[in-house]
Amino acid sequence: LLCISVISTMLVGCGTKTTTSPSSSGNSTGKKIGVAMPTKDLQRWNQDGANMKKSLEEAGYEVDLQYANNDISTQVSQIENMITSGCDALVIASIDGGSLGTVLAEAKNKNLPVIAYDRLIMGTDAVSYYATFDNYMVGTIQGNYIVDKLDLENQAGPFNIELFTGSPDDNNARFFFGGAMDVLNPYIESGKLNVVSGQKEFEEVATLNWSTEEAQKRMENLITAYYADGTKLDVVLSSNDSCAIGISNALVNAGYTKDNFPVLTGQDCDITSVKNILAGTQSMSIFKDTRTLASKVVEMVNQIMKGEKVSVNDEKTYDNGTGIIPTYLCEPVFADVNNYKELLIDSGYYTEDQLK
Ligand code: BGC
Repeated sequence: LLCISVISTMLVGCGTKTTTSPSSSGNSTGKKIGVAMPTKDLQRWNQDGANMKKSLEEAGYEVDLQYANNDISTQVSQIENMITSGCDALVIASIDGGSLGTVLAEAKNKNLPVIAYDRLIMGTDAVSYYATFDNYMVGTIQGNYIVDKLDLENQAGPFNIELFTGSPDDNNARFFFGGAMDVLNPYIESGKLNVVSGQKEFEEVATLNWSTEEAQKRMENLITAYYADGTKLDVVLSSNDSCAIGISNALVNAGYTKDNFPVLTGQDCDITSVKNILAGTQSMSIFKDTRTLASKVVEMVNQIMKGEKVSVNDEKTYDNGTGIIPTYLCEPVFADVNNYKELLIDSGYYTEDQLK
């Protein structure tokens, strides 16, 4: 039942169709949209970019799609270029959400609408709209997964846990971590969950740039410092897959096998992580169908360009420091070994071969 409702949410919840009919010319609207993505290093952004480009072109726009190699100044100059080369609107997945104020002031001067894609852009009133997945819900799904998996309602524990979240310059990371900790904190306070390292604060558990290598290094250090005496690690909260992959590597290197592997969360359903889920070296991931987010953003672009009312469903959560940014939240769902086929393969997101 859950799976059925999950799939129907995916297909219906955020609208998978764009409303504008496809154009053969690729630029029937005469308008150009700049799409700035953070990096090609992570699989999800490649999919986001490709889906955005395809959907925007089908809706009749010319598209300037750029990737910035996780380098802030590269992203700034790409956006500058989009503004000067005559883009009519900007869609931006920022690297550092707080460093685009100056360049976006130019966009505002030219009355260019700016949509923050997936990550909120902070501290500038140039942002018109935000579209993302419900980031807080991502965290609560991860937290609840841990509660269910360890049966914390019924088991006394204590279970040993370590915590990892993402990049401190990404506003999403605080929502992911906050959502998960709102679920886990009561169990930490009651002693059922024991953070052996004692590292519980956001700053202590953040991972700059969501780096796999950094997460692996920190997990290795934790193992050496707190688990080398044979203390068993039962669970690791990881906010996403790029961190989970590093954590999983460290755990495998330390001798954990699929038979005693700690519960390990993730997010994105990156192919490497789905393979780890199938191999028993990651427990779950959050599926955020990038096709859904892309189609939502294309709908927003269409509405903005036609001067129509832009459909949003959240006008209270996301304050970027200049006020609330009207937001469209798509719904994330959890994926594990039991439902990955329906979510990822039957929906056409991956082929079976890609997961081998
Ligand atoms: C995104 C996640 C992603 C992470 C690392 C976050 O802003 O919401 O889906 O895993 O960045 O790229």
